[in-house]
Amino acid sequence: MVRENARAKINLTLDILGIRADGYHEVSMIMQEIELCDTVELEKSSGGISLKMDVAKIIGGENIPCDEKNLAWKAAMAFQKYCGKNFGVDISIAKKIPMAAGLAGGSTDAAAVIRGMNRLYETNLTENELCKIGEQVGSDVPFCIIGGTCLAEGRGEILMRLAPIKNFSVVLAKPEGEISTPWAYKTYDENPAKTHPPNNEIIKQFEKGDYDAAFKNFYNVLENVALKKIPAIADLESKMLAAGAKVALMSGSGPTVFALTDEKNVKKISESVKDSGAQIFITKIC
Ligand code: ATP
Repeated sequence: MVRENARAKINLTLDILGIRADGYHEVSMIMQEIELCDTVELEKSSGGISLKMDVAKIIGGENIPCDEKNLAWKAAMAFQKYCGKNFGVDISIAKKIPMAAGLAGGSTDAAAVIRGMNRLYETNLTENELCKIGEQVGSDVPFCIIGGTCLAEGRGEILMRLAPIKNFSVVLAKPEGEISTPWAYKTYDENPAKTHPPNNEIIKQFEKGDYDAAFKNFYNVLENVALKKIPAIADLESKMLAAGAKVALMSGSGPTVFALTDEKNVKKISESVKDSGAQIFITKIC
């Protein structure tokens, strides 16, 4: 049996540069792995794929499909296809990452299955090959395979590893409601942003360790879209900032808001949003 931590991500920035001929959006995003994770266990089986999910810890988890529509299942199929072998696998996932929250919950399970099958079947594929398989499953899967801090371009699959940033604590607040990623991008296209995050400048600021300057530049072009559906996002951000967060921003297509902080302010920040009805998670940057 092999076990993998399937860690969530936050977007320190998210920019959309346009729509490509293949229908995907061209993006430029600074992605960060965090410690909050699902646990994925894989066991060899005589053939085929099976999937069990323990969703007791997440809201709405009963709606996640447990068949070939699940990203973890798709990942196992993509791994078999790449290797040209009918590698049987029984997958068990204990979910903790909230779904449709902008934290890559599904993509990270897929990434863990790909990494885990490489260990289970001792196939010795390189990280690059694992990312190629991940790309077939979803645009965020390659980042979830390698983790850390990265600039993600193309449709999200072209990754440049960045210098790891300081180990800040992270407070996540997931307000009620879900945002579907396709809906967010479609709504964005009707009214594209005029402000964009200066990703190159932020990367230089990270290199110098000038985090305070970098935080001021964090920006997510999908936030205005998400606010139309879930106005509570703005309220969560102002409360977390007032409680001492260094930065508070929506992740991905939302609606989860993250705050970065030194450990000493974690309690104050999480208490500032505890009556909002949002689900709160306290975690760290990896
Ligand atoms: P992203 O940040 O990549 O946009 P997300 O966190 O917003 O992702 P997910 O949690 O991945 O969104 O869920 C989006 C959809 O994917 C849900 O409708 C869910 O049913 C489906 N899904 C498929 N497989 C999984 C999985 N293993 N875990 C969670 N959701 C899954």
